[in-house]
Amino acid sequence: PYVQAFEVIEKPNISYDDIGGLEQQIQELREAIELPLKNPHIFKILGIEPPKGVLLYGPPGCGKTLLAKAIAHETNATFIRLVASELAQKFIGEGARIVREVFELARKKAPSIILIDEIDAIAARRIDVGTSGEREIHRTLTQLLAEMDGFNPLDNVKIIATTNRLDILDPAILRPGRFDKIIEIPLPNTRGRYEILKIHTRKMPLAEDVDLVKIAQITEGATGADLKAICVEAALKALRENRFIVSMEDFNYAIKKVIKNRYRPYAQIL
Ligand code: ATP
Repeated sequence: PYVQAFEVIEKPNISYDDIGGLEQQIQELREAIELPLKNPHIFKILGIEPPKGVLLYGPPGCGKTLLAKAIAHETNATFIRLVASELAQKFIGEGARIVREVFELARKKAPSIILIDEIDAIAARRIDVGTSGEREIHRTLTQLLAEMDGFNPLDNVKIIATTNRLDILDPAILRPGRFDKIIEIPLPNTRGRYEILKIHTRKMPLAEDVDLVKIAQITEGATGADLKAICVEAALKALRENRFIVSMEDFNYAIKKVIKNRYRPYAQIL
């Protein structure tokens, strides 16, 4: 079957309200991407150049993709998503061509945001580029850098890349005019966890005893994706018992289920 190497989402259905915590990061991303796309003249007046690319790094499941989608939604930009690990594994020999096509499409459909997920798959520092597979991955990266160098910072194409491994990246991608803005997306703190729980229980009928503050306090170390899974598991538990209201007991069950078998500081207290 034909597998598409990248995905175009005309208008992602995610807004800033769907993101818990990360206020500072949203602010920085808006300045780096939304402002120059919407008001390029401001940058001209001030005589400064916005970043062409932004790199989001941090543990998996904490909202990197979500943030990129929200920015695309808010700017009405065409959103093109490319998963770098797939370029390296599924589309062997085609990486450079795919990168070229993605940038062509982005320019044609501008304003556009290109999201490159797991960029470390093509941009890890390499000691030797000996094997043909390595050389091919290197060609893909070279094409990406050439595309980025080839356009103007005020063209309305922006690139967001994500990674869990900032430490292994080739410094070439961090040079000025490339990914020159780096934003950390960390694990949520207690308040962040509370905000995320609020979002994922927005449409849920909660019993009066459900205490989201308490849940946030006892889930230290949980990612946004974990917290979402906890909410879903709690609701499924209620459903299984033919209840249409979700109780604190359901949440306690779900917390244990989702975080079971994982080393987390709170594992002992549950
Ligand atoms: P990965 O590195 O695995 O791609 P990521 O950081 O991009 O992870 P997302 O794909 O954005 O994580 O998050 C996975 C899911 O977890 C989201 O679709 C969302 O439902 C939930 N989630 C994660 N972080 C948050 C958050 N800050 N607020 C609300 N929901 C979140």
